[in-house]
Amino acid sequence: MLSTMQDVPLTVTRILKHGMTIHGTSQVTTWTGDAGQPQRRSFAQVGERANRLANALRDELGVEGDQRVATLMWNNAEHVEAYFAIPSMGAVLHTLNLRLPAEQLVWIVNHAADRVIIVNGSLLPLLAPLLPRLTSVEHVVVSGPGDRSVLDGSRPRVHDYEQLIADRPTGYDWPELDERSAAAMCYTSGTTGDPKGVVYSHRSVYLHSMQVNMAQSMGLTDRDTSLIVVPQFHVNAWGLPHAAFMTGVNMLMPDRFLQPAPLAEMIVSEKPSHAAAVPTIWQGLLAEVTANPRDISCMARVTIGGAACPPSLMEAYDKLGVRLCHAWGMTETSPLGTMANPPGGLTAEQEWPYRITQGRFPAGVEGRLVGPGGDILPWDGESAGELEVRGPWIAAAYYGGSDGEPLRPADKFSEDGWLKTGDVGVISADGFLTLTDRAKDVIKSGGEWISSVELENALMAHPEVAEAAVVAVPDEKWGERPLATVVLKEGASADYEALRAFLVEKIAKWQLPERWALIPAVPKTSVGKFDKKVIRRKYADGELD
Ligand code: ADP
Repeated sequence: MLSTMQDVPLTVTRILKHGMTIHGTSQVTTWTGDAGQPQRRSFAQVGERANRLANALRDELGVEGDQRVATLMWNNAEHVEAYFAIPSMGAVLHTLNLRLPAEQLVWIVNHAADRVIIVNGSLLPLLAPLLPRLTSVEHVVVSGPGDRSVLDGSRPRVHDYEQLIADRPTGYDWPELDERSAAAMCYTSGTTGDPKGVVYSHRSVYLHSMQVNMAQSMGLTDRDTSLIVVPQFHVNAWGLPHAAFMTGVNMLMPDRFLQPAPLAEMIVSEKPSHAAAVPTIWQGLLAEVTANPRDISCMARVTIGGAACPPSLMEAYDKLGVRLCHAWGMTETSPLGTMANPPGGLTAEQEWPYRITQGRFPAGVEGRLVGPGGDILPWDGESAGELEVRGPWIAAAYYGGSDGEPLRPADKFSEDGWLKTGDVGVISADGFLTLTDRAKDVIKSGGEWISSVELENALMAHPEVAEAAVVAVPDEKWGERPLATVVLKEGASADYEALRAFLVEKIAKWQLPERWALIPAVPKTSVGKFDKKVIRRKYADGELD
């Protein structure tokens, strides 16, 4: 028997309409660098401008069907406008990672066949030299300050964002969309091989946004202001702009001011109650507020993910009145896959072991651990295997290009349709996931596995250590052994002996690194994670001896 319920498609358009009316007075505040003078726009205004942008894209630029409109932008109100205008008109929003190497950007734009790029003026020096190689791009729309003369003589037509949308109608006859059609796409950063495109549907965005808003996830409402540091090109800023339009969460957008000092300034002046970013951002902010103390306790809750959060970082923020909550996810998982809110009714002490896990799967995401022989492992907190997940906001394939079939590489998707995450971990009997490593980062020493993350967490708990990254390096006797690369805090003098002695109490003796390197900074990926392949390459080139 079929249900008797209305079959209303779950689309981004519905989120837009809801946000700009029901939460019309909520604010998107974009930092401009002028202290106390941020740009403030209500959801009603952002929504109206999204309507005008859609009209301009259709009537002036001729965007139609599921053509791709890319953004090369910081986190700001105009980027939010693009987030809603493009999918709602039926086109596909393609967020470009502005920190990718030029070659990869060119490859990605051509692969997605982007027709339009909306770019922040400050990023024109990055885009302009690439344009001759971006064969599908017919229009460049420039938003915000920046020297536009670098585009003189370029092939695509150039438009000014504000002029383009200025006299357009404030309404749009939004099409009825199939909820399974593409809304947005995002490429993984391609640590091995070519980048892979994940295409989110309207339905997946809608359901994921509801999940982000659940109390056991980020649980935000219109009483909150969220400082969205995680870039809008990094898995849709973890779904926050969409989620915010559902519940009226005020958005505080840092634009290009991502250094610790302006972030601290934003927090003190705008008093966000929540924030989201990868661990390196929080490491940087911690150093800043330690050197120049400021009260940041208004930001009571922080969602931290994208890489393992060292427990020492959580402890340090606890002391500042800021609670870091660990989340795990990937480009392929929209990204929210788990979140570490402890079960109810526990004391702070009892909560701690839960907080330092990656967390629990929300309703909608199923997880399983698969052992080396392909067997499904029990949830006993001990059996370690590769995590596989499935659910309505988890990718089933990668984009194969305009002419191609979707790609389903066997190392990424199981035969029965689960996503192979490449992450290794254990799950406790009560469903909390602890990741020990990425499969490719695990150190395989004499038939045993050493967790690079465990060594890093232990090292970063040392009071003189700012950052530590551990990688596997070849070893004649053991196959692989850990190399510990360490960044000391300013003025610190700890040597290898001292660091090793510190680890002895926490780590099994056979796992202790015998290779060490003091480095000025850990190399980072385009989204601010430790870039271990660069460390491995430097070691192979003899630069870290
Ligand atoms: P990339 O693979 O380019 O880094 P993603 O941003 O999709 O792109 O990264 C997903 C990966 O990041 C996960 O597979 C996992 O290894 C890591 N990750 C994300 N969140 C966490 C977390 N909370 N703890 C440990 N690792 C994490």
